[in-house]
Amino acid sequence: MTIHNTLSELIGNTPLVRLNHVPQSLGVRASIVAKVEYFNPGSSSKDRIAERIIDAAERSGELRPGGVIVEPTSGNTGVGLALVAQQRGYRTIFTLPDKVSESKRAVLRAYGAEVVVTPTDAGPDDPRSYYQVAERLAKTIPGGWRPNQYDNPNGPLSHYYTTGPEIWEATDHKVTHFVAGIGTGGTISGTGKYLKEASDGAVKVIGSDPEGSIYSASDPAEVHQYNIEGVGEDFYPKAFDRNITDDIVKVNDAEAFEMTRRLAGEEGLLVGGSSGMAVASAVKYALANDLDESQLVVVLLPDSGRSYLEKIFDDDWMRAHGYGDVVERTTKPSLVA
Ligand code: PMP
Repeated sequence: MTIHNTLSELIGNTPLVRLNHVPQSLGVRASIVAKVEYFNPGSSSKDRIAERIIDAAERSGELRPGGVIVEPTSGNTGVGLALVAQQRGYRTIFTLPDKVSESKRAVLRAYGAEVVVTPTDAGPDDPRSYYQVAERLAKTIPGGWRPNQYDNPNGPLSHYYTTGPEIWEATDHKVTHFVAGIGTGGTISGTGKYLKEASDGAVKVIGSDPEGSIYSASDPAEVHQYNIEGVGEDFYPKAFDRNITDDIVKVNDAEAFEMTRRLAGEEGLLVGGSSGMAVASAVKYALANDLDESQLVVVLLPDSGRSYLEKIFDDDWMRAHGYGDVVERTTKPSLVA
């Protein structure tokens, strides 16, 4: 019998799958392989950090029985935290900017979390921002505790102890490049650190960043809003270790969304916009650096496309937001007049 006693046992050990069509159609010769994180029980890479962060807080005494977990999260971290929290009897409250889709909020509520929606255009210093609202709630609610995924070292550590070794073993130590989007920076910093150590520095770590985010901006004036969710920032979190990334490849919303729709339509991978962004960065990097057949590029795809059905996969939403040409390029001609 193979019966798992808890859902937590199913976190991690996600598969690597070769992309067989899209990179080739764009002239890429290197192998591009996806690490598909929607196979986690909460459907994203964030399950990995949730368990390690809660375990550590219980050990340190920061989180006690009856405690309330309060966090600003675009959704995925919330799902991971809510999954673990409900099993251990903690209440969860999440603050989200209003650009985050309604379906993501519904998922959090389904897991028993309370959701507070804040204006996207409120910057980190604005008292209405999702960071500041979370901070206030954690201080005023009895037993309130902030995991603080942006600064918590257990975020990157969870990737150092799980994602990194999984990739190293699954590729028989042949991985040459690792590409991941940067949100808190935990995924790229933890996984990248492990892969660099395991390969004596041979593995190149490439960050993927939305145009408008601080990580790839050469000037503060370049920082502006964008529609890709879960990645990019307007400040530098402690979870991001700048010394690990060798390069950062910038992708705009249209490029990310076109790749996201192609991954679903041509590779069978229904993934989110930050996944499309990461693959678009991998393709750009492979072409710009003339990577050949001997190179094995692993790209991490953080979550599922199911959370974006009413946005990236909705033609009307796409057209209304100025991505009509992406819709034309990624829609097969209809046989019905
Ligand atoms: N993609 C999505 C959809 C996310 O929710 C996140 C986490 N904010 C990331 C990518 C980036 O991961 P990290 O925070 O580890 O940099």
